Amino acid sequence: MQYYSLQHQAPNVSFKEAVLKGQAPDKGLYFPTELPKLPADFIKNLATISKEEVGYTVMRPYVGEDMTDQELKRIVAETVNFDFPLVKINDQIASLELFHGPTYAFKDVGARFMSRCLGHFHKNENKKTTILVATSGDTGGAVANGFLGVEGVEVIILYPSGKVSPIQELQLTTCGKNITALEIEGSFDDCQAIVKQAFMDQDLKEAYQLTSANSINVGRWLPQQLYYFYGLQQWQQQQPPVICVPSGNFGNICAGILAHISGLPVQHFIAACNVNDTVPVFMQTGNYQPKASTPTISNAMDVGNPSNFGRILEIFGGEAEKLKTRFSSVSITDDQTKATIKEVYGGTGYLLDPHGAVAYRALADYQQQNPSQKGFILETAHPVKFPDVIESLLDIQIPLPEGATALNSQDKVSVKLAADFDSVKNWLLGR
Ligand SMILES: *Cc1c(COP(=O)(O)O)cnc(C)c1O
Repeated sequence: MQYYSLQHQAPNVSFKEAVLKGQAPDKGLYFPTELPKLPADFIKNLATISKEEVGYTVMRPYVGEDMTDQELKRIVAETVNFDFPLVKINDQIASLELFHGPTYAFKDVGARFMSRCLGHFHKNENKKTTILVATSGDTGGAVANGFLGVEGVEVIILYPSGKVSPIQELQLTTCGKNITALEIEGSFDDCQAIVKQAFMDQDLKEAYQLTSANSINVGRWLPQQLYYFYGLQQWQQQQPPVICVPSGNFGNICAGILAHISGLPVQHFIAACNVNDTVPVFMQTGNYQPKASTPTISNAMDVGNPSNFGRILEIFGGEAEKLKTRFSSVSITDDQTKATIKEVYGGTGYLLDPHGAVAYRALADYQQQNPSQKGFILETAHPVKFPDVIESLLDIQIPLPEGATALNSQDKVSVKLAADFDSVKNWLLGR
């Protein structure tokens, strides 16, 4: 399999190069030259196939000759070594829980796969690779945990001091080993700006082999298809599901659409957004107008210019009319999100996190118009990651998931730095 740049101004590359580069030199996103079709038997017998075998079969064509069967099988097995249960909320809606991984968010899947690919590709190189990543919360934890102990790779995470939740901060700052947390006295935007500048700095380029672990990397994007198959394995209805995905940068839902194009039966996809509604507006008006992001309680989706939407359009040959036959997108306010968390918890006992609640609202609204269509949401994070929102809405203490209690007893280790490029650069050069 080869990958081309969506800007069409850079040479095609293999899977390995696409993972190592992240973004094409012309700043375009990489996209596979072919969209694989899975055998009809595979889809028919899906429910009887192990999740490791499903993962291997789906990823095999994308990886091409850059990995042996054995290597790919090992990497897939390590990536998906936790549960992906489809839990019934009511007769119409189920929840595909993607938060049973080590950092309680779906980003674990992409981060674990990509980290192991990088580790594999760097095996025979003696120069260490340094991943530099800025996080507003979930990405950093998933990347830190995914890369923990991976040889030949070190991770440096920049996070905004005081602006991530307590569990998120512990996940970033207690790994040790090859993971370092830089606590930046500024905002997420500051962290991101510093990382961007670092990638262009000549002195740093000489001292380090820098790579990003950005969500646009094909090594993170493509394995996100796998849990759509795991959801369908557990789907008991005759009719295929409507799948509703809480969306920010649109990588997650784009992977689902790819799975569908490869043969996975899905009735319809809904991209549920918070008030950052660039895509819902585009679907209404045909006008794509990126804007600055607005902060919300589902903050992992506060994205004003979703990078992966271009990939979704590409899947449909750039034709918005074709896209509309399979895909719609809506915007949900914080007030609706809060009301939904309350209503669903009160009515069913199911506790949604703010991101899952945005998706639940969007799917329930869709079913008002299409009452015969059942479906599921992707629950992208454990509610415990957002205690402020949940505990102020519902008078409850969220029970800690297994493993999180251990986190609480560990000591935070971070390097505090001012929010300017020079202080980070000096620290990097002075180590
Ligand atoms: C990152 C994230 C999202 C958004 O996923 P995209 O692939 O960027 O659309 C949704 N929910 C949670 C909890 C996240 O961490």
